[in-house]
Amino acid sequence: MSSALQESSLSPHYQCVRCGNCCRWPGDVHVTEKEVETIAAYLQMPVNEFIQTSTRLNANRTGLSIIDKPNGECLFLQGVNVCRIQAVKPVQCAGFPNVWNFPGWREKCEAVEVTPDQA
Ligand code: SF4
Ligand code: SF4
Repeated sequence: MSSALQESSLSPHYQCVRCGNCCRWPGDVHVTEKEVETIAAYLQMPVNEFIQTSTRLNANRTGLSIIDKPNGECLFLQGVNVCRIQAVKPVQCAGFPNVWNFPGWREKCEAVEVTPDQA
């Protein structure tokens, strides 16, 4: 997932169809300290173990991101489109593409445009 965060003022709303594409492109998936604790608890793993096995320094070295697999996809992507931590996924994941996005995002994301009263 791209780290080129950009505030979005999109209208209309885009509804995720869970294609999994945003979990497959390389880049930082930021996790806050609180998210680290929440995800570790969800995985029933000590926080330190989670940090050691599932995170790395993000590109600008200001915090932690989820590790990428060698092919660039997120460590927690299972199969084509299943997030193993869906119930506690980071805010960055939940916010794309409506809260933030990046130039060219529409070419990669299959989300469906919905009118405000459908959103
Ligand atoms: S944490 Fe889940 S939703 Fe976020 S990039 Fe990884 S697999 Fe995708
Ligand atoms: S790329 Fe778009 S439609 Fe696909 S999983 Fe991510 S947000 Fe949902």
